[in-house]
Amino acid sequence: MTSPTHDVIIVGAGLSGLSVARFLRDKRPGISLLLLEKNTHPGGAISSHSEEGYLAEWGAHGFLDNCLESRVLVHIAGLKQEVEKAPLKDFVRYVCLDGSLKLIPQSPPKIIKAPLVPFSAKLRVLADLWKKPLPGEPTVADWVEYRFGKALLPFADAVFTGTYAGDINRLTIDSVMAGVRDIEKESGSVLRGLWKKARTKKKEGEKSTGLPAMTSFRAGMGRFPQGLANTLEANREIMYRTSVKKISPVENGWQVTTDQNSFTGRHLVLALPVNASLPLLTGVDTLTPPPMDHLAEARIATVALGFTEQANIPFGFGYLAPESEQRFALGALFSSHMFPDRAPAGHQLLEALVGGRRHPERLEMDDDELIHEVYRDLGRLMDLPTPPSFARVLRPPGGIPQLESGYPALLSWRRNLHAEQQNLHVCGFGWKGIGINDMTKEAWSAAKRILTDQVEQERTELRGIYF
Ligand SMILES: Cc1cc2nc3c(=O)[nH]c(=O)nc-3n(C[C@H](O)[C@H](O)[C@H](O)COP(=O)(O)OP(=O)(O)OC[C@H]3O[C@@H](n4cnc5c(N)ncnc54)[C@H](O)[C@@H]3O)c2cc1C
Repeated sequence: MTSPTHDVIIVGAGLSGLSVARFLRDKRPGISLLLLEKNTHPGGAISSHSEEGYLAEWGAHGFLDNCLESRVLVHIAGLKQEVEKAPLKDFVRYVCLDGSLKLIPQSPPKIIKAPLVPFSAKLRVLADLWKKPLPGEPTVADWVEYRFGKALLPFADAVFTGTYAGDINRLTIDSVMAGVRDIEKESGSVLRGLWKKARTKKKEGEKSTGLPAMTSFRAGMGRFPQGLANTLEANREIMYRTSVKKISPVENGWQVTTDQNSFTGRHLVLALPVNASLPLLTGVDTLTPPPMDHLAEARIATVALGFTEQANIPFGFGYLAPESEQRFALGALFSSHMFPDRAPAGHQLLEALVGGRRHPERLEMDDDELIHEVYRDLGRLMDLPTPPSFARVLRPPGGIPQLESGYPALLSWRRNLHAEQQNLHVCGFGWKGIGINDMTKEAWSAAKRILTDQVEQERTELRGIYF
């Protein structure tokens, strides 16, 4: 009987793979790990860009501090002193409605109280109390309209533009808000279910944690994967420029074939975006084939614009524009309001997002055209008296996985896979969520399965809605 050369092989050194590795090392210091990464550096979709005193992001701009796994990882990475926070209670958010920016309160009840929709539309929201659960796998748009009425569609659109750069006519409610869907089915009404939950929490003496804070690092989000990778690199546990081509089961574990080599591990973790792991999994004859061969993705570009202090950028986190407004940019982050050192003295930084699921054609434009169109669009929403003194277009190579029709079947296939294959672990971008906090939770679940050799019951989670 041959022994695998490593305890655990992890494919992908993005945030997910690095998180699995650091959780494992933290809990079992002697474990032998090998991370295989096709790129020349760690981080995958997370990378910061610094130029002329501006600091912008290729991908993630931050994560909310309400996730234990992410907080633990910041500690493990030794980055606590570098954390920067922008609390949601101070950094207000805007939605573009009827051609201007409207301040949005941060909770659904407050949104309903605010003068954003007519009184009749507010009354319509209460119809949720009498509506039967909508059968099938409805889109977010159909579900929101059915339960709460048409008037809430622009708000739902803004939320899912902000998180997925997605299209609410294609994202499905079961995929993006499984917890809320469970409440709807259990209580027969979302509002009733939420009230019930709030009452139980109060009875049990659970304190409200208040609104979370957007979290990043002084040198940008790129510090997070780099901080996690440092000790793994020092121990020569990450092999860069190494693309995994094939995986196959062997006695006592898995074999991984790269462009030049092959390695064996007792456990194999695929910490990859769904569309990078599906071909590897499909290539294994002994596994039940996945129910789909790829997930749609939304590509976006970030247009970073620097302005002098003459520009009157409203104070806050940023804004989002629902499709009904027909704007060029999906929205923009007021980056130097949240994190003042992101622009040189006397200057401000805006980061606008363009493209998304609905407008991939806009990414065909060259950089000058994109900058021009974004400046024109933003100039109609805020006072930008002079053209930008700095402009850079960042075009991340990968897209954001879209959780659309058929996604629940994919997750159910993965649940069965984990139950049948105790030493194969699939996590990463698009597997049960798309955000950083989803990735760190999934990474902890994979690490726990490896440490305990036990498959845990997957639970759906009730998430807060933040614009
Ligand atoms: C434009 C954009 C904006 C975002 N904004 C936010 C945000 O503001 N907040 C938030 O919470 N989340 C955000 N996200 C999501 C967040 O970035 C992801 O959740 C997270 O980075 C995913 O990490 P991962 O390691 O799972 O995947 P990835 O970061 O994609 O890493 C996977 C790694 O695997 C490597 N790889 C792929 N195939 C192979 C192979 N065959 N062999 C070896 N290596 C391979 C890749 O090179 C990569 O390094 C954003 C994402 C994008 C794209």
